[in-house]
Amino acid sequence: MSRTRLVAGNWKMNKTPQETEAYIRAFLPRLDLGRGIEILLIPPFPSLERAAASLGSAEVLLGAQDLHYEARGAYTGAVSAEMLRGSGCQFVLVGHSERRHVFGDTDEVVCRKLTAALEGNLHAILCVGETLEQRTAGDTSSVLNRQLESALAERAVSDVGLSIAYEPVWAIGTGETATPDQAQEAVAEIRGWLADAFGPSVAEATRVLYGGSVKPENVKELIEQPDIDGGLVGGSSLDPETFARIVEGAMP
Ligand code: PEP
Repeated sequence: MSRTRLVAGNWKMNKTPQETEAYIRAFLPRLDLGRGIEILLIPPFPSLERAAASLGSAEVLLGAQDLHYEARGAYTGAVSAEMLRGSGCQFVLVGHSERRHVFGDTDEVVCRKLTAALEGNLHAILCVGETLEQRTAGDTSSVLNRQLESALAERAVSDVGLSIAYEPVWAIGTGETATPDQAQEAVAEIRGWLADAFGPSVAEATRVLYGGSVKPENVKELIEQPDIDGGLVGGSSLDPETFARIVEGAMP
């Protein structure tokens, strides 16, 4: 398998620029870099430039939590792909469940944001996942298929420079984690969808992460599943020592 593992820390609305600098100062010495894993920090917008400066030449990637689909204009509060690149980002999350459920990002908006990210030369992490109600009703597959289809189906194969994160909504910030079997089943389904839509080589090359209450105690059993290529970590990425332990646990 040639996919490089990726562990990403989504800080959500946490950490000022000053706190970001202190975090990175504590985090970098705890990492064993160059061991076949990519590490990504995803701070809030105002902390991005400070994060980029604090990371310096360290091999840790930087991403943003969201973007707007337009390049510029009268969109108060929004930021574009070009602005994120100018702040030092290589990555951006698209369609995180908090964007979908708290801020009302529809499938159509997620599709437009994904297009803007890829066309703006950002590596997108497309987040998909079902609610507890949808899982209980047996609708997990159809929800994942719909979210993938609406975000990706019209893209050409050559455009697909992205990772996907399977994030069951019922496991995000709840302390409840999908079992390794549940996570593997859903991630394999996502890879199957990619194979049908873009062919087996794209499916084989695309990283699919798991997110939802990943912790130092459960990262190993999740990442050892054959189709899971990394973790998208929220709450447990806020402490540099804990997040470094998660990275360590995810090492190949
Ligand atoms: C997330 O924000 O993407 C996430 C998975 O959060 P948590 O790890 O806190 O469940």
